Formats: sequence, structure tokens, C-alpha cells
Amino acid sequence: MILILNDKADPSSAEYGRLMAALRLFPGIEVRVHRIEGELRAVTEVYLIGDTKQLSIDQMRALPCVEHVVRVSEEYRILGRHKDDNRPSYFEYQGLRFGQDTLHVFAGLCAVDTPQHVELMCRALEENGQTCTRMGAYKPRTSPYSFQGHGSACLGYVFDTAGRHGIKIIAMEVTHESHVDEIREALRRTGSPTGVMLQIGTRNTQNFELLKAVGRQQEFPVLFKRGFGITLDESLNAAEYLASEGNSKVVFGLRGMKTNMGDPHRNFVDFAHVPAVKRLTRMPVCVDPSHSVGSRARGSDGILDLMHVTAQAIAAGANMVLIDFHPDPATALVDGPQALHLREFAHFLEDVGIAREAYLRRLEAAKRHQAA
Ligand code: PEP
Ligand code: MN
Repeated sequence: MILILNDKADPSSAEYGRLMAALRLFPGIEVRVHRIEGELRAVTEVYLIGDTKQLSIDQMRALPCVEHVVRVSEEYRILGRHKDDNRPSYFEYQGLRFGQDTLHVFAGLCAVDTPQHVELMCRALEENGQTCTRMGAYKPRTSPYSFQGHGSACLGYVFDTAGRHGIKIIAMEVTHESHVDEIREALRRTGSPTGVMLQIGTRNTQNFELLKAVGRQQEFPVLFKRGFGITLDESLNAAEYLASEGNSKVVFGLRGMKTNMGDPHRNFVDFAHVPAVKRLTRMPVCVDPSHSVGSRARGSDGILDLMHVTAQAIAAGANMVLIDFHPDPATALVDGPQALHLREFAHFLEDVGIAREAYLRRLEAAKRHQAA
């Protein structure tokens, strides 16, 4: 059960003290308080864990400081959707809103290689009116002998360059909790010219200690990639680890499943799960066409598979697209074969716009027919 507290819920107030004292009287109920910092205001939520069947909604609503009560089903307590649940399904970061009704494109380098390529990428983003990007500094690789990213050594010039080109958020994977400190420190050193959305990669989906560490901080939102070899339910439960530690600014990322049933694509494209994740949880949903399709294969109609699957996801309501671009894919150190050329950026964005318009028209038609 979740108690959402009102604005008067100041931990030093007598009312708040009375609430906590009242909650202590219920046997076998563990009380966990989460303060969720929004850009406009902070909200305090109290999670009651244990046998909450003994508690009634009316009884809880009558307690001091309580504004709203949600009885949650067992699954995905915080990130899930529950009956009578009108908690917000969006968060704000760097002045941008991430919700189940918004759309953001994060085009950029799979892996940072040279300062020149970062500069060319950021220039293309600015020229195309984009304020978000992806830049991999810490790369988990299949072979220990492959390039694993420049790590903290590149953070300074990546943040500086991004800031100069008006980039507000960089999605960046972390594979160890120490990387979060390195990112925070590099941002401090460079005067925070941009923001960072921490990415949990598919290989770390169930790295619970990493999830708990990233969940304990609320400074950076998280792009959480589904596990490529586990069920959707297992991945959603893993995402809940972030929220259970206090960080519910989580975007859920679909990136394809590892099975040869998806051949000839690198992974089986799982974008039909966009509406499913939006139904089961309150998370905005991201799709990663690059790591799903994995190549620049082109359909018989002349359109790249990458652009077809992106359009399919957006037409079904996806909220974010993470996509690999590179100024010179032939020399990219990671995932060159799936990267789009900068000269394809304008076409890609136009296609995104067409698909988004299709989604908005589909929504409008659905509302009209439901009302009739
Ligand atoms: C990535 O986005 O660079 C990446 C490695 O993705 P995934 O974890 O989905 O493979
Ligand atoms: Mn990659």
C-alpha cells in the first residue's frame, strides 16, 4: 500500500510525527519513506510493506498528512499501474518531460572514439534541432580483447562539446557504480554543461547490486534496458529495483531478444511490447532499433529496416528512440555496421515525425470511436 502525503508532510512537523506513530501501531507492517524530488515540488510517499490486507483505504486516508492512498497489487509496486492509481506517470529532467505521452530522440555515438567524431555528431544534432544524444564511454563487450570505451578519460570533452552544442541530456551506460561517481565528478569539473541519463545495459538487467546502487541516487534518471534473454516480467521486476531504492525516474528500453528466430535481424525485434509495458507500468518506453536490427539492411521498398522498426514503435506510442549514428561508420570502434550516416539524419527525423503524427491520429480516432 502506498500513502501519498500532502504538502504539509514536513518530517519535522508534529503531524508527520503523529502519522509515523500511528503506523508503528500496525503489527508486521514495514514502513519505508521515499522522497521523490521533482523539478517543481517534492512528493513524499510512504510504502507500507507486509500484510496490508488488514488496513483499509479509509482508515489510512484518515491519518494525518495523507492525501491519497493506493492499494498496489504485488507486482511492480512502485513503477506498476494499479487500480485507482493516479500517481503521475512522468518525470522532468533538464527541463524536458519524460512521460507516456511524450517523444524524445536520442541519436548519437554507440561508443565515443575521437573528440572530432563527438564534435561532428554534436554539430549534426544542433543543426537538426536535437537536444538529446547517446554517447557510450563504458562499453560492455563480448570479448575481453575488444575496445571497452574510453571511460572517464573522455567524459570532460564529451560534456564540454555537448554543452557547446546545446545538448541537454546524454544517455550513457554505466557498468559499475563507480562510473556514476566519475560522471558526477566530470560534470562538476566541467561546470555541468549538460545532463546525463544513466543507462543500464541488457547485460546488467539483473545485476541487482548495480541496480540498487543506481537506484539510491536521484540526481540522474535511468534508461533501463530489458534483459535480452529473460521474460518481460523479469525485466520489469528488475526495473523495480531502481524504484525500490528511491529512484523512480526510469525509462524502460526495448532492444530486442536474443534468439535466432529473429534472423536476419541481430535480435528479435520486440517493439510490439511498447503498449504492453505502458499498460503494465507507468514508465515511458524507449526503443533501440540499432541494437535490435543490428544492420543497415534495406527493405524492398528502399527504406532501411532500422527506420521501419522505429516507425512501427512510434506509431504504437513509443516515448523515446535510442539510435546509433556515426560520422564515419566504417571506422567506428563499436557497432559500425548498424550506425546511420549523419547525411541520413534529416530523413530519419522526418520519418520519426511522420510516425508520431500517425500515432497522434490513431489516438484521436480511438477516442472518437470509443466515445461513439
Ligand atoms: C548500447 O546501447 O550501447 C548497448 C550496449 O545496448 P544493450 O545493452 O541493449 O546491448
Ligand atoms: Mn552498441
